[in-house]
Amino acid sequence: MTMFDKIALIGIGLIGSSIARAARRNGLAGSIAVGDASEAHCQKALALGICDSASMQVSQAVKDADLVVLCVPASANAEVAERMAAHLKPGAIISDVGSVKQSVIRDVGPLLPEGVHFVPGHPIAGTEFSGPEAGFADLFQGRWCILTPPTGTDEAATAKVKAFWESMGSMIEIMEPGHHDMVLAITSHLPHLIAYTIVGTAGNLEESLKGEVIRYSASGFRDFTRIAASDPIMWRDVFLNNRDAVLEMLQRFTEDLTALQRAIRWGEGQVLEDLFTRTRAIRKGIIDAKQDS
Ligand code: NAP
Repeated sequence: MTMFDKIALIGIGLIGSSIARAARRNGLAGSIAVGDASEAHCQKALALGICDSASMQVSQAVKDADLVVLCVPASANAEVAERMAAHLKPGAIISDVGSVKQSVIRDVGPLLPEGVHFVPGHPIAGTEFSGPEAGFADLFQGRWCILTPPTGTDEAATAKVKAFWESMGSMIEIMEPGHHDMVLAITSHLPHLIAYTIVGTAGNLEESLKGEVIRYSASGFRDFTRIAASDPIMWRDVFLNNRDAVLEMLQRFTEDLTALQRAIRWGEGQVLEDLFTRTRAIRKGIIDAKQDS
């Protein structure tokens, strides 16, 4: 069912190209326009057949679009908003997919003209790959998408964005932006920081040990390397834009780590066993909720 005559996707990387594929497969848009700073990505999107037009000029891509979704790294949001603001169709809905929600509301909200509707969003789905070839239509299937409309947002616009994501297979939660940033700090941002740290520490080891880390990586290290292979620009922006929430969670984590360190030092096996039993139950909860297999 066509929901929008024209949608514009700004940034045709992993997330933008997955939306393009899912929207196309489900016939959600009359036409799909792409705006991307990379000429190679514009050409690739056209060659893949996932859009009807592609331009390095954001102003061109958003012209006459009923829905515009920003799918760029957080540091590019303000610049993109500035370039597109004067060219938006009256009544258009502007959304995004960024991993941090308070900063996009701060950076983009004030630049949008009167008469358009801003409904920020964040699909809780992704991989460690980037670029237009990395996307796939099923990325959002069975995954949550969190919408964080600022107070006073037009309810009909929020309902349209909700229906759009539901049509791509997502389950929707509406959340206050600050709460979103706190929840994601522990569920996504801190795990990435820990993975970057562990892999970085292994990388700093002397050569003889390094070889063995790779050879025996299946014992746990491998899972961290997948996360630590995620896009450096995107993750730099996540930490710079969700600083307070990440520092808060990092403080709690550091305290818990110190407690574990103490338990190991003093041979307090019961402390370790109790924690590992509780964490096993959390894993079971995630599987029961069908968020992993
Ligand atoms: P990506 O694969 O790197 O795609 C981003 C695209 O935006 C690239 O084609 C990039 O071109 C382009 N771009 C960068 N600056 C631009 C600008 N100023 N104007 C127009 N285009 C620009 O990144 P992604 O993984 O799709 O992430 C996009 C957004 O989704 C981020 O905000 C991220 O927080 C969010 N997100 C990501 C995931 C994930 O797992 N990856 C999950 C949920 C949400 P160049 O490559 O040439 O710079």
